[in-house]
Amino acid sequence: MNDNYKRETICIQSGWHPKNGEPRVLPIYQSTTFKYESSDQMGKLFDLEEEGYFYTRLQNPTNDAVASKICELEGGVAAMLTSSGQAATFYAVFNICEAGDHVICSSTIYGGTYNLLGVTLKKCGIECTFVEPDSPEEELNQAFKENTKAVFAESVSNPTLVILDIEKFANLAHSHGVPLIIDNTFATPINCRPFEWGADIVTHSTTKYMDGHAVSVGGCIVDSGNFDWLAHADKFPGLTTPDESYHGIVYAEKFGKGAYITKATSQLMRDLGAIQSPQNAFLLNIGLETLHLRVPRHCENAQKVAEYLEKKEEVAWVNYAGLPSNKYYSLARKYMPDGVCGVISFGLKGGRQASTKMMDQFKLVSIVTHVADARTSVLHPASHTHRQMSDEQLIAAGVAPDLIRLSVGIENVEDIIEDLEQAISKLK
Ligand SMILES: *Cc1c(COP(=O)(O)O)cnc(C)c1O
Repeated sequence: MNDNYKRETICIQSGWHPKNGEPRVLPIYQSTTFKYESSDQMGKLFDLEEEGYFYTRLQNPTNDAVASKICELEGGVAAMLTSSGQAATFYAVFNICEAGDHVICSSTIYGGTYNLLGVTLKKCGIECTFVEPDSPEEELNQAFKENTKAVFAESVSNPTLVILDIEKFANLAHSHGVPLIIDNTFATPINCRPFEWGADIVTHSTTKYMDGHAVSVGGCIVDSGNFDWLAHADKFPGLTTPDESYHGIVYAEKFGKGAYITKATSQLMRDLGAIQSPQNAFLLNIGLETLHLRVPRHCENAQKVAEYLEKKEEVAWVNYAGLPSNKYYSLARKYMPDGVCGVISFGLKGGRQASTKMMDQFKLVSIVTHVADARTSVLHPASHTHRQMSDEQLIAAGVAPDLIRLSVGIENVEDIIEDLEQAISKLK
């Protein structure tokens, strides 16, 4: 599309460009397979000589339209959808790492990512070092090894809400000849575009704000096209040496800036098959059409709720980078000046017990493990996701026993605050 369109216009218009007489709205290509006139044509597709659809596990027009919308929102050159955010993280790393390799990951990260990199990838022979993201650069430098192939972090971490110094991490990764991968799920490209700060690859759990309605699990990987694989050819043989499973194609030579996503599609999706269903991609696209309206409203409501909680007598602490008192306020101003996200966390003076009690008082706010959709929802990790842990273990994991995670929705903020007010009043 026109390169000058702004994010709001991209949200609505990008991805699907119907020709004369075609459906105005992105159709669901609910077909596993695609028909060709000649055997030779089909052969060229298999050789990656020509572009075209042949089997939905590899590519599907509905999915591609939605991926290209997200790609434009992030300012990238190529993108692919995956079945979930977890699959996106896995592919993003596994596309450039193999047994014997090493990755560096921020320690303040989504629990699923922590397990994937720290436990499951370890079983595949890929080692991970977790680093405290606020550490001084000299200390972060020491985490790099000969076999380090990537650095991974979240722009806004779930659930600790740490704001990453993206430029610092990008410079660090590049000084060691490896790409920076950013999970941009919480900020979304409406609030932050990591490529503008030097990140090379972006991943998303589209399950959250992008879908926005809690209807479909999905993920996405976007490539900036900026990382020069050939300049670090020895580190990335998968992209810079012939792929025997594709007639000796060298991805970085044949596909240039599209190499990373082409390899992830033609190797990882072919072999592992974690595709998003076209039906879910269709639903995701409807969510994306209002992303630019919903995200600012989430942020506006979260800001008001955080300010309300900060003033409450019964509240011990509030964590939200939109508050000037927050440790990450200045980083948030730099990287996401229009807002951070709708998720905040807080604790009560009555500790774990008070938090447990408060959970049962809500009327409008609902208890769910999900975050980042239109409805305000709440979770008490010590009672739910982390319930097997002792208070000491919780603190070590960065999850205070009294921590309540509140995902502020897009209802009228006065109704949300009223529900919090009545729930707090019952603690006395
Ligand atoms: C939810 C989440 C994921 C995992 O995504 P799924 O779609 O649930 O697989 C990854 N990263 C972040 C930051 C998340 O919030």
